Amino acid sequence: MFKKILIANRGEIALRILRACREMKIRTVVAYSTADADSLPVRLADEAICIGPPPPKDSYLHAHNIISAAHITGAEAIHPGIGFLSERPSFAEACEMCHVKFIGPPAEAMEAMGDKATARATMQKAGVPVVPGTPALNNDQEALAFAQKYGYPLLVKAAFGGGGRGIRLVQNEDELPRALEMARAEAAAAFGRAEVYLEKLIEEPRHVEVQVLADAHGNVVHLGERECSIQSPRRQKIIEEALAVGISPDLRRRMGEAAVRAARAIGYVNAGTIEFLVDAHDNFYFMEMNKRLQVEHCVTEMITGIDLVQQQIRIAAGERLPFSQKQITFHGHAIECRINAEEPEREFMPSAGCIEHLVLPGGPGVRVDTHIHAGYMVPPYYDPLLAKVIVWEKDRPAAITRMQRCLQEMEIRGIKTNIAFCRKIVSNAYYRRGELTTDFIQRRIFASNQP
Ligand code: ADP
Ligand code: ADP
Ligand code: MG
Repeated sequence: MFKKILIANRGEIALRILRACREMKIRTVVAYSTADADSLPVRLADEAICIGPPPPKDSYLHAHNIISAAHITGAEAIHPGIGFLSERPSFAEACEMCHVKFIGPPAEAMEAMGDKATARATMQKAGVPVVPGTPALNNDQEALAFAQKYGYPLLVKAAFGGGGRGIRLVQNEDELPRALEMARAEAAAAFGRAEVYLEKLIEEPRHVEVQVLADAHGNVVHLGERECSIQSPRRQKIIEEALAVGISPDLRRRMGEAAVRAARAIGYVNAGTIEFLVDAHDNFYFMEMNKRLQVEHCVTEMITGIDLVQQQIRIAAGERLPFSQKQITFHGHAIECRINAEEPEREFMPSAGCIEHLVLPGGPGVRVDTHIHAGYMVPPYYDPLLAKVIVWEKDRPAAITRMQRCLQEMEIRGIKTNIAFCRKIVSNAYYRRGELTTDFIQRRIFASNQP
């Protein structure tokens, strides 16, 4: 096992990884930008090393500085966390070349699922159902041909997009040329790559994703699914649950098998997630693969009792998975609310500043993953995630009651947050009945007076 790991990330996820290391008696180095010098992960780490100024490209995305930091501190492995360098094959490769173990999949596996258009082709070959769509487009003619065959509405999606960005709805043929042009320009500006492709719009879908774990010895298992349909109008997840409501045991088995097949097809190693859309008739379609740990991994941990970060580290160290598919069982129901520094009423505008007052929820069946504390300055440079409130109970109705209780207890003052907004969601009658689709927020929260 590794003796020392460098954590190349910040915020709650840096703390999450640090906690896994500590329980495994592994020493930790937190690599931080000057904006995070006083942060909790930096304070709690065995060692901390500055990797640059606040802009991500100069610190958390600066591969050279990070690998140098590992060498200087004698760290044998790097955990990239979420976002930043976690899904860049070039970074995984650079680590390998510099003899530092990258805690994540091999670069080749990442490339096979690299951009979304390539991933779709890879999955089609592996016999996994994908949303009807095109490869990366060479010209508008190809788009028109697809649209004439499959009709509207459809989506233009950036092949290199992520974080809910780079997706554009097209209602009819008149809108298509302009949508393509705009999407290409936006994608080039946001992701540095202009490639786009088309997907048929799946109507009133649910976002259901399957967690997989694969070791370096050919063992692949899935850990059930997560329901992630509660998304902002910008397609960012807000509330996640495990397991998903309304997924029959048969559908669960088929989706689990498809996810395992997907991972095997690309020689995947480590933790990953296959994202699917499920339509009203229980058809499921591959959407993309997240080749890293996910923000919402905690709900899976709560119902399986498996520590996903510890498993990631063990897998990277060459250990075999300690369980077979049969030994993975699900207990109770877990829900996570992402508490963000943002104003839902003002188009989810981010909010930065000092947290003047803080009360975190607690008590039975409650887990709060957060790096914030009273007096903490939320920097304006990064993701708005402040805390994840995770609850576990014997079934979904009881878990919802527990989440309501937690959101009543929780107080953050000094900056704007979405706590009240989350409260509204979990009290909504449609939510409580499990009537969830990806447009839930628009349909049931913004467009209705229902409390
Ligand atoms: P990202 O990389 O931003 O996560 P995804 O491809 O995973 O992009 O899509 C994000 C969200 O957009 C999905 O969770 C879903 O709500 C919506 N979406 C994406 N593709 C489709 C589609 N073909 N039909 C309907 N909704 C879609
Ligand atoms: P998850 O898929 O784990 O739920 P998200 O989709 O919310 O996570 O993304 C995780 C983090 O990575 C967020 O901070 C998000 O903003 C960021 N992110 C993901 N993909 C990209 C991308 N292509 N460009 C910029 N940020 C991204
Ligand atoms: Mg996605």
